[in-house]
Amino acid sequence: MSGKFRVDTDAASASRDTTGSVSDRIRSRLRAAGKRFHANDNIHEFLETGELDQLQADLETKVRAVLETLVIDIESDHNTQETARRVAKMYVKEIFAGRYVPMPPVTEFPNVSLLNELMIIGPVTVRSACSHHLCPIMGKVWVGVLPNEQSALIGLSKYLRLIDWVMSRPQIQEEAIAQLADLLEEKIQPDGLAIVLEADHFCMQWRGVKDMDSKMTNSIMRGSFLKDSSLRREFLSLMPGNAQN
Ligand SMILES: [Zn+2]
Repeated sequence: MSGKFRVDTDAASASRDTTGSVSDRIRSRLRAAGKRFHANDNIHEFLETGELDQLQADLETKVRAVLETLVIDIESDHNTQETARRVAKMYVKEIFAGRYVPMPPVTEFPNVSLLNELMIIGPVTVRSACSHHLCPIMGKVWVGVLPNEQSALIGLSKYLRLIDWVMSRPQIQEEAIAQLADLLEEKIQPDGLAIVLEADHFCMQWRGVKDMDSKMTNSIMRGSFLKDSSLRREFLSLMPGNAQN
């Protein structure tokens, strides 16, 4: 009995806890809710007002420590005096913002014209970073949608915003494309969904094997794209801007 009482109290107080670092407070809320917080998870619901700015300030201190550990004289080197501030802002508000901001609002329209033909969106430029090295991933994505009468339709700019929201997190390409497919399926409820993602991984080009030409391409086919090979072929042959076309 007393054990259970203590657990409940901890969970409740976690959200009000004002001690420890801001990351500690957010982490204890996530743990109390049993919510996963991997690099490519969105944790927006667990942040309170003002905490993103606090995270950024905390991170700035830690990036400064990284520069000091690298024996860079940030006192006299004018090029690096503001680097910690810039990097902290870049991580929290720009390149990893997809972890901390809510999903962009998406207006769904009913499929009044009962469209049931293949639609292709792309190539859309994607920018991300690999979870392993935090090196840039730059690429292109194509999305094929086969709607049915019940599907919701979303505007082109909303595809771009949703793609950016998923990619603005430390990712690995296979998980990024699966997250994107889950999200688009949930929003659109199509008969079929196909996604092709082709990307340069800077951790292969800038370090490691330093292979400038290696690209990684992967695809996800769901619903009618899985069952119907001619639909699959049609999508792949119509992908605009694809090197093979
Ligand atoms: Zn990497």
